[in-house]
Amino acid sequence: MRPVIIAGNWKMNGLPAEAGPLAAAIAAAMPHPDVVRVLCPPFVSLAAVDAALAGTGVAVGAQDVHAEGAGAYTGGVSAAMLAGLATWCIVGHSERRRDQGETDELIGHKLLRCREAGLRPILCVGEQLAEREAGQAEATVQAQLAGALRVVTAAGGFPDDLVVAYEPVWAIGTGRTARGADASAMADAIRVTAAALGAPADGSRLPVLYGGSVTSASAGEFLAEPAIDGALVGGASLKVDEMAGIVARAAVTAQARLEAAGAA
Ligand code: PEP
Repeated sequence: MRPVIIAGNWKMNGLPAEAGPLAAAIAAAMPHPDVVRVLCPPFVSLAAVDAALAGTGVAVGAQDVHAEGAGAYTGGVSAAMLAGLATWCIVGHSERRRDQGETDELIGHKLLRCREAGLRPILCVGEQLAEREAGQAEATVQAQLAGALRVVTAAGGFPDDLVVAYEPVWAIGTGRTARGADASAMADAIRVTAAALGAPADGSRLPVLYGGSVTSASAGEFLAEPAIDGALVGGASLKVDEMAGIVARAAVTAQARLEAAGAA
């Protein structure tokens, strides 16, 4: 049975002094231990959020990590620096691919650094609108996955704690979401690629999240899809009521999975 995961990506929002109280308020509003809950604040707020979330069952994630382990990389933050402050890490977000020119190979090295430091990675993949309209969405996503994961598998096998977030670029921050059925089809394609790259159990154990303008109103469309295991939430993750609604809906899916597993 795959877990149901809701991860909030705060992006470059909020000040460190605001982050702890916000994290505490969000955690209190989503008391659903059957759902794996993660908040990913900016680096400078990790310590405050880590302290605020102690004892809540909500995990802390970083939004990025440097591809190298240490050295002359001004402004960089290594995986070893994050360990102790975070247990999860987003890698390959489309905003970093766009703004920092991150390549699949570089993202693969970030996955390696996560593995060394014991950070659980959320690998983001997703196509541009033009690629979807050209019928290239699955090929694009499969190439992104293969490009990053080849680096990791060559250095020690498929990462068994990997989580993939399918985030169509045209849906991020736009208010426009994919359809549940399309996201589900992409999750299937992601698992096929993962299996070809050595994922255990033919990729059937790989959690795949949907991301792109998810709100409490739209979350149900994705969480109703058996192939989708949760959401990576951007803008709405800064709002207590939105996170409360999204996680409450995720808890329904988690409970249904538990019951189905118990009946099997
Ligand atoms: C994201 O940042 O991963 C994201 C999906 O953002 P939003 O929910 O704001 O579209």
